[in-house]
Amino acid sequence: MRLRTTCPGCGIVLPDAAHEEPARLHATPACEAVLDEILGFEFQHPVMLRFHQLTVDTYGAQHAGGGAPPIRVAYSLAGLWLALEHGFSAEDVRAVHRRMGHPTPAWPAFDPPAPPRRWLTVLDVAEAGVRQHSDGGHARAASQWSESVWTAWLEGAPGVDDGVEGMLRSIFLETGHHEGLHGTIGPAAAIHRLLGLLEA
Ligand SMILES: [Zn+2]
Repeated sequence: MRLRTTCPGCGIVLPDAAHEEPARLHATPACEAVLDEILGFEFQHPVMLRFHQLTVDTYGAQHAGGGAPPIRVAYSLAGLWLALEHGFSAEDVRAVHRRMGHPTPAWPAFDPPAPPRRWLTVLDVAEAGVRQHSDGGHARAASQWSESVWTAWLEGAPGVDDGVEGMLRSIFLETGHHEGLHGTIGPAAAIHRLLGLLEA
């Protein structure tokens, strides 16, 4: 019988993966294998690719701390803040990510909250979606999962939203980063919209 291990990020308990590759984030290899399963489902069904960015960011935010690279946590939280608080599309989130660059001392450390007793995980998304071959189930569960993880951060790490906003302000307003951006569609439009939010 294979041993079962608790994921240090999200808390799900799974049998150890048969072939242990070191985890990329603060996670067990078995938990990351479930992530790969739902990412595979998104790639097979182009209609679900709009969830791809949210999936990557939600997983990153839920597996912060430990050996997870701080840059990944910062990008994930920025993605959730943009998508869930401000309704940015996946494409617009990617446009912002592409211009965030590398961490500076102005970026907050973003210490993860203690995992709440109940939050949704990749396993809930896999069971509602790929394991039932259900696009709709995936869509609903992926949205609820992202809300549940962002809520855990807001409640367990108060001020995380202000931290994200301050970080984006330091990147986009204080460095002249946006000079040379022209146009009102595509990536430029996403950045202009962000600047509007940050200047308000
Ligand atoms: Zn996990």
